[in-house]
Amino acid sequence: MWAIKELTIIINKMRDNSFETRLLHTPYEKPDAYNALAMPVYHSVACEFDTAEAMEEAFCGRTADHCYSRITNPTVQYYENRVRAVTGAYGVTALNSGMSAISNALLTVAYAGANIVTSPHLFGNTYSFLKNTLGALGVEARFCDLTNPEEVRSQIDEHSCAIFLEMITNPQMEVADLKLLSAIGQAYGVPLIADTTVVPFSVFHAKDFGVDIEIISSTKYISGGATSLGGLIIDYGTFDWSGAKVLKMWRGPAGNEAFSTRMRREIHRNIGAYMTPQAAYMQTLGLETLQLRFMRQAATCLDLARRLQETEGIVSVNYTGLEGNPFYALSITQFGEYPGAMLTFDLASREACFAFLNRLRLIRRATNLFDNKSLIIHPASTIYGSFPETVRRSMHVKQETIRLSVGLESMDDLLDDIKQALGPVL
Ligand SMILES: *Cc1c(COP(=O)(O)O)cnc(C)c1O
Repeated sequence: MWAIKELTIIINKMRDNSFETRLLHTPYEKPDAYNALAMPVYHSVACEFDTAEAMEEAFCGRTADHCYSRITNPTVQYYENRVRAVTGAYGVTALNSGMSAISNALLTVAYAGANIVTSPHLFGNTYSFLKNTLGALGVEARFCDLTNPEEVRSQIDEHSCAIFLEMITNPQMEVADLKLLSAIGQAYGVPLIADTTVVPFSVFHAKDFGVDIEIISSTKYISGGATSLGGLIIDYGTFDWSGAKVLKMWRGPAGNEAFSTRMRREIHRNIGAYMTPQAAYMQTLGLETLQLRFMRQAATCLDLARRLQETEGIVSVNYTGLEGNPFYALSITQFGEYPGAMLTFDLASREACFAFLNRLRLIRRATNLFDNKSLIIHPASTIYGSFPETVRRSMHVKQETIRLSVGLESMDDLLDDIKQALGPVL
């Protein structure tokens, strides 16, 4: 299991080391038979036991031995432990995509008759999961303006099981005040669950801003070069679940264990979306260079955002790290100078966007975020292409907007490509 006492002691001892050091030097739980420096990939569905008694102990959760790779696996657990070592979290679970992290987390707190207070500004599949998938199970998604505290308060009632949000919404680039939302949640006994994919934990410390459960699509920055899908659920152990309806029977002596206990013992096993050992291996490698890559990509992004503001043919640039941005002050407080490596910009029309995309030579037309390569997309016609026009409008996804995920190329090469693709006539 993930809550191993010995490892917790080692991880605690590493607390004084820097982020980069902790990332690289988190020990294995058991010594490797060959002293391998890279965690071996345990491509085995099951692990065997010496005795029936040992088997009973493990299956009943009294020992931490691995039984079956839908539940735990040594390679995946090592990846989870590295994330625990750098975030200081109480529990970390690696799933096979960002969407499975979101669905596992929300299914752990939701029940028929419950509601989730959220914004309509969400990743397309997350919106659909909340509205359609959970909606069909009798869980209501209450879409409101999370930048308006009064509206948030008015949506919360005794059946609210979570406030759920994306930290910087995409493509709207809206920033909610996390400490304020956390305080509102605390006052009503509702946890704050945040999808923090756009700014990695190397620079954004979710716990400091009152996030109780952090969710990350590790497909993005962490995988490093878009090698694999993955998702993380990070439980900071900060929320007292004593009052949470469906978590009562999972309560431990401290009141803060219930979420991770139910999620690991019930939801995660029943859904069966655990990360594969191969993906965990690649994402562990990705973690080692996370901070390096992020700082380079985000610095290029800020530089590019400033330059694009002065570029003819571009109507407006949206990046919360720009001084003139309406969320600038909040963005600096929460994320520092570099709020991610994604920006959007508007051109004159949908036609202008399509013509621009078709003329690009270097930047790739693709839907992922935070690949090493810069990627570009027209969200309205793709990610939100199957949404009815009225829904798309209510989500403020505009036909004039282009989203750019900035990679590791040089700023000058990216700017040159954008300028040549804008063409002389736009
Ligand atoms: C990509 C993304 C997801 C979904 O992640 P997958 O790994 O593709 O399932 C969820 N939220 C945000 C903010 C994302 O960018």
